[in-house]
Amino acid sequence: MDEDLPARLAAVRDRIAGACAAAGRDPGEVRLLLAVKTQPVSAILAALGAGADLLGHNRAQELEATGPALDAPGVPRHEMHFIGRLQTNKVNQVLRWATCVETVDSARLAERLDRAVAAGTGADGTPPGALDVLVQVNTSGEDTKSGVDPGGALALAALVGGLPHLRLGGLMTVGARSADPDVVRRSYDLLAEVRAAVLASGEPGTSGATELSMGMSGDLEPAVAAGATIVRVGTAVFGARDQGTR
Ligand SMILES: *Cc1c(COP(=O)(O)O)cnc(C)c1O
Repeated sequence: MDEDLPARLAAVRDRIAGACAAAGRDPGEVRLLLAVKTQPVSAILAALGAGADLLGHNRAQELEATGPALDAPGVPRHEMHFIGRLQTNKVNQVLRWATCVETVDSARLAERLDRAVAAGTGADGTPPGALDVLVQVNTSGEDTKSGVDPGGALALAALVGGLPHLRLGGLMTVGARSADPDVVRRSYDLLAEVRAAVLASGEPGTSGATELSMGMSGDLEPAVAAGATIVRVGTAVFGARDQGTR
């Protein structure tokens, strides 16, 4: 058990509060999502015990492996988002454990998710509900990053908005990987511009697209300044992933 985790979590919350104060925003507008990839269940439970209430997994396999332990009696209530690249053959695994998929970046994936939710009618005949999704946008132009191009985001948002079993909650991006704060900030401003365009489009099912999931351990301040409503933090709370802290 890592006894410094609560202090690191508190420090991240302080950073968010500071960034909100600097931007004249209410700290209640920004949720902290803990990116738990590669973390053992013990670390995830420690974070939940310290007050975390929103988690994100990148891999369907890890989601499945940790799902039962995180769903057990006595575990603090929390939400689980999927924040990784989602292969269509892993959709059912992800739907079992996540209540929001933040990484919808193609019509094909959106349609596959919609069909999977529709097919998930309960054995007792309860009607299929709707899955919360965000459209992931590539705001950095980096080839290695997932996400629909900004120019295609409106069309994808409209398509998602029109699918009966998906609820478009907003947009997500992984910011530019740059030491230049202006470059990083530009990718976050761009996501905010895409959101404004989506909300102004008047397309059915897009009026609830208010979330901006952006900002990580190294750059949550510019993301909050640009309007982030969810920041996704791993390293700053759990420590560096590659150095085997346990
Ligand atoms: C790992 C990850 C994060 C968190 O990154 P850190 O730099 O560890 O804070 C955020 N978003 C996504 C999609 C991630 O995969």
